[in-house]
Amino acid sequence: GEQPLDELIASLTVDIPDHPEPGVLFRDLTPVFADGPAFGRMVRGLAAPAVSDPRVAAVAGGADDPGYDVVVGVEARGFLLAAAVAYHRGVGVVPVRKAGKLPRERIAADYSLEYGTATLELHADSIRPGARVLVVDDVLATGGTLGATVGLVEQLGGVVTAVSVVVELVALAGRERLSPHTVHALWTA
Ligand code: AMP
Repeated sequence: GEQPLDELIASLTVDIPDHPEPGVLFRDLTPVFADGPAFGRMVRGLAAPAVSDPRVAAVAGGADDPGYDVVVGVEARGFLLAAAVAYHRGVGVVPVRKAGKLPRERIAADYSLEYGTATLELHADSIRPGARVLVVDDVLATGGTLGATVGLVEQLGGVVTAVSVVVELVALAGRERLSPHTVHALWTA
């Protein structure tokens, strides 16, 4: 049979000790992105937050409705995934960007990182009030980045169906920081 997806992702991920700072074990997923079959399975997995989850089931309208109207991707690796997920499900994609990149009226959120602090921005007209949103990124670490992203989406009146990530670093407890939102992780490390 087919190798389980979590094992496939784990086998292709390269761990870099002390990058970009001492004490951080950096999970480099770029080899997973570069592998065609693995990338395809990863994108399909991210696109399908478990409908067995009551929060997802509550907003999903049946087999043809994935439970979201738009995918939000977080700069920069989240862009690679979010666009592919959106295309796969036939919905649009919206970027959450680092400060100073978006050209029009925007909202901003400051947040703390596993290594440093930063600001994320979202175009003010990019999420229709009531739109159901799937938020996508590569790594859930402390949850600072995704927590700020969820906050921006909700500030515009979006409803977060789920947060989909390739890998959840469970020791950093990002899932708790995102509570009560559903976290859909393809691999927990
Ligand atoms: P956090 O805000 O702490 O959840 O960090 C999440 C963001 O930082 C994600 O966009 C990741 O790309 C990146 N990141 C944080 N920690 C790591 C790590 N150990 N390995 C790879 N990427 C990481």
